[in-house]
Amino acid sequence: MLSVKEAETIICDLLQPLDSKQDRETVNLWAVDHRILVDSVSSSLDFPHWDNSAMDGYAVCYSDVQQASEENPTVLTIVEEIPAGSQPQVRIRPGEAARIFTGAVIPLGADTVVMQEKTRREENRVFILAAPQPREFIRYQAAFYRAGEQLLPAGIRLQAPEIAILAAAQCHQVNVFRRPKVAIFSCGDELVTPDQPLKFGQIVDSNLYALAALVKELGAEPLILGIVKDEPRALQETIAQAINQSDLILSTGGVSVGDYDYIHQVLASLNAQIHFRSVQMRPGKPLTFATFPNKQVAYFGLPGNPVSALVTFWRFVKPAIAKISGLRSGWEAQFIQVRSAGELKSPGNLETYIWGKLQLNNGIYEFHPAFGQHSSGNLINLSQTNALAVLPIGQTFIAPQENVLVLMIGFFVN
Ligand code: AMP
Ligand code: MG
Repeated sequence: MLSVKEAETIICDLLQPLDSKQDRETVNLWAVDHRILVDSVSSSLDFPHWDNSAMDGYAVCYSDVQQASEENPTVLTIVEEIPAGSQPQVRIRPGEAARIFTGAVIPLGADTVVMQEKTRREENRVFILAAPQPREFIRYQAAFYRAGEQLLPAGIRLQAPEIAILAAAQCHQVNVFRRPKVAIFSCGDELVTPDQPLKFGQIVDSNLYALAALVKELGAEPLILGIVKDEPRALQETIAQAINQSDLILSTGGVSVGDYDYIHQVLASLNAQIHFRSVQMRPGKPLTFATFPNKQVAYFGLPGNPVSALVTFWRFVKPAIAKISGLRSGWEAQFIQVRSAGELKSPGNLETYIWGKLQLNNGIYEFHPAFGQHSSGNLINLSQTNALAVLPIGQTFIAPQENVLVLMIGFFVN
């Protein structure tokens, strides 16, 4: 059986990002949040666009004010007022100053801005009460960025700072990767939808809803194929449809070794290459990964148990979707070391994932394992989970206050 690391390597090597030539769309800047940039962006503008003031104050000639002090102020005549957005009309000569505001263009002749707080105004004269540094409070044209240089690289997720940069560069339409399509279905004769009356022996399909939410959270588009019976024919039809309509297929259930677990048989009949059928982890051991080589579609057969389905999604599917989406870096599973607030136990023979919550205690993250029974069928104590503590094979115990590695699941989405 493969280790988690080996399984991860196989998945990451086989999955490739969407095609930057074909799988792209142009999106209005209002709608690009969380989308992934497909082309690098450069701007035809310098940043700042022109020399401008970083302060409210007075634009002056440095040589006039270099000796200025509280006791011996330099007195200058104000020849112009330059609000932000206006064009200066006169050249500043020795003995003169322009009243200037933050963001306004520096007038010709001036080379320094004296902040308002270091001045006193008397009608059309200004008293400079302290010597500034030469060139102080001027934001020079192109000091931050020169026109034509790369502004943003391809393959990054667009969030508030990047969107602000694009807006400033007047990129009101942006080329992004299209959203990957993820087909999802649940497999099991016992399953009913949440709105159906529950007959004795039946189980409500919760996986479909949870996985759809996770897929959306990652910026991908779920294609909901519903509940499929444990029947080879029905499964084959569903998977064949999914292959044609999606980039990635997720199913839950039907991948164990029971008599009604038909997924492997059906995958083989559709010429899938099954890369593995189980992984040394708990929960999540019966995880299947396959590809359809001629279609470039990957298939994750997640276990049916609701906790196992989510844990395997967080560990393997989330990075896979992030990579397919076009994200160039940071798509891998992210682990951080924190302090455990409780006892963590594992049988030691499988890499064990314990769900719980990271909480800040005096600025240090602590991992609190979820209360109640840690069973792969116990969905109830998954609520509020934002991290999974990982106990590697061979480690059976972590005492309170000891360090533990946790997989981030609730935030830091790249
Ligand atoms: P399986 O992997 O098909 O053997 O299913 C394992 C367990 O998970 C069984 O108790 C199933 O009833 C349950 N299960 C399977 N699929 C789902 C689902 N979509 N939602 C909730 N529970 C499920
Ligand atoms: Mg089943």
